[in-house]
Amino acid sequence: MGAEARRMGREREWQAQRRPTRRSVAYAAGGRSEHAALARAPFLDLAAKRVFIRADLNVPLDAAGCITDATRIVATLPTIRYVLEHGGLPIVASHLGRPKGGPAPELSLRPVADYLRRALDVPVELAPNCVGDAVESLIARQRPGQVVVLENLRFHPEEEKNDLVFAERLARLADVYVDDAFGAAHRAHASTAGMARFFRDKAAGFLLRREVDVLQRLLVAPAPPFVAVLGGAKVSDKIGVLENLLGRVQAFCIGGAMAYTFLRAQGKPVGRSRVEADKVDLAAATLARAAARGVRILLPVDHLAADRAQAGATTRVVSADDFPANLFGVDIGPQTIDAFAQEIAAARTALWNGPMGIFEVDAFSRGTMAIAHALAESSGTMVVGGGDSVAALARAGLQSAVTHVSTGGGASLEFLEGRALPGLVALEDAAPAEHAAVPR
Ligand code: ADP
Ligand code: MG
Repeated sequence: MGAEARRMGREREWQAQRRPTRRSVAYAAGGRSEHAALARAPFLDLAAKRVFIRADLNVPLDAAGCITDATRIVATLPTIRYVLEHGGLPIVASHLGRPKGGPAPELSLRPVADYLRRALDVPVELAPNCVGDAVESLIARQRPGQVVVLENLRFHPEEEKNDLVFAERLARLADVYVDDAFGAAHRAHASTAGMARFFRDKAAGFLLRREVDVLQRLLVAPAPPFVAVLGGAKVSDKIGVLENLLGRVQAFCIGGAMAYTFLRAQGKPVGRSRVEADKVDLAAATLARAAARGVRILLPVDHLAADRAQAGATTRVVSADDFPANLFGVDIGPQTIDAFAQEIAAARTALWNGPMGIFEVDAFSRGTMAIAHALAESSGTMVVGGGDSVAALARAGLQSAVTHVSTGGGASLEFLEGRALPGLVALEDAAPAEHAAVPR
C-alpha cells in the first residue's frame, strides 16, 4: 500500500471513531479538557485585537546561534497565520533554553523572529523584553498584519514561579489569549497558566488542540487492538503511562533499558545491562496487575549484547534466557523485532514512546528503526511521543508516515498518565479576574 493510501485509510478510521462523550473525556484527562479551540470559538473577534500567542518556540541552536531544527516554529505557524488572516496583531511569546533567571544574549528569540519574518513574509518586530513600558509602546505602534515577538520569557524568574504580578504584566499586552504551547502545557508558569485568568477571550491554538485531540483518542475509546510500545532510559519515566494505559491497551511491548528492570523482576539474567534496582518490585507488581487484567506484556526474547555500551563495541545476539554476565544489552534482538512488529501490524491503534536501544549508536539502532518502520507501514492510528523517539523517527525520515508526532515530550507523557495539565486547565477557567485586582 502506498503512503498516500495508508494516510487516507487512517483518516477514514479516524472519522469513523465515535466522538468521545463529555463525561468520558473528563474522565480520561483527569477531570478536564474540553476548552475552546481557536477556530471553534465564535465569540473570539480577532479583528484589530492584540492577540497574545503563547507558543513553544524552544528550538535548538548551534554555537553560532543558528536554528538547527525549526519543527516547533513550523508547527505553530497555522495559529499565527489564522490570527493575521482574521485581522489581529499576533504577539508571540515563548521561552528558549534555560537562562538562569536573567537576560542571556545567546538565548535571545532573535533567530526565531528572523525565521518568522521569512516564513510569514510580514513585518516582524522583536521586542526588547517581554514586559514593561518599552514593550507596551512598541505594541501600541504596530498595526494588524504585523507580528511582535516578545523576548525570552525566562529572562524573568517570575515566569517559572507563576508570579501573579508578572502574569498581569504579560496579560496587559493583549486583548485575547491563545495558548499553542503544548510542549509547555504541563508547566504552571505565568505565560502558560497564570496569565489566562485575566482574559475573557481565550482559546487553544491549532497545535495545542490537535495534540489534545489525538492523545485523548488514545485514552477514550481507542480502536482495538491498541498496543503501546514503550522503551527508553527509565522505568520511572514511563511507569505512570503504563499504569494509566493498563485498562486501555490489549498489549504492551517493552524494550530499551526499561526492559531490563522488568526482566530482572522475572528473575531473568541481564548481565551488566542498565537496571533500576529500586524499581524491580514496582515492575513485578505491574507485571502481576497486567496478568490479572489479561493484558499481555511482551518483553524481549533476545537482545543485541555488547562488550561496551559504545560505538566500536563487539556485539552478538543473545537469548533472554542466557544473557552473558559480562555484556550489556544495547538493543532488542531480531526475534523480538519480529514479535513487536507483528503486534504493531495487527494493531488499529499504537503508541510508541521510548527507543528500543541505544539508538544514538548506529550499530545499536536496528530495533528502534524497525519499530519506526513498522508504525509507518501500518494503516492504523499511530502516535509517536518522546523527544528521542521522535528524533529516531525523523532520522528514518518517517515523521509524515504516522498519524501524529507529538511536539511535547513531557507534556504528552503527563497527559497520557491521566494528569490534568495546568496549561489546559487555565484555558477552561471561565471567570476572568479583573486586571485592577492585582497590584501593579
Ligand atoms: P524518549 O525521549 O523518546 O521519551 P527516553 O528519553 O526515555 O526516550 O530514552 C532515550 C534514551 O534511552 C536514549 O538516550 C537511549 O540511548 C537510552 N536507551 C535505550 N535503550 C537503552 C539500553 N538498552 N541501555 C541504555 N540506555 C538505553
Ligand atoms: Mg528523552
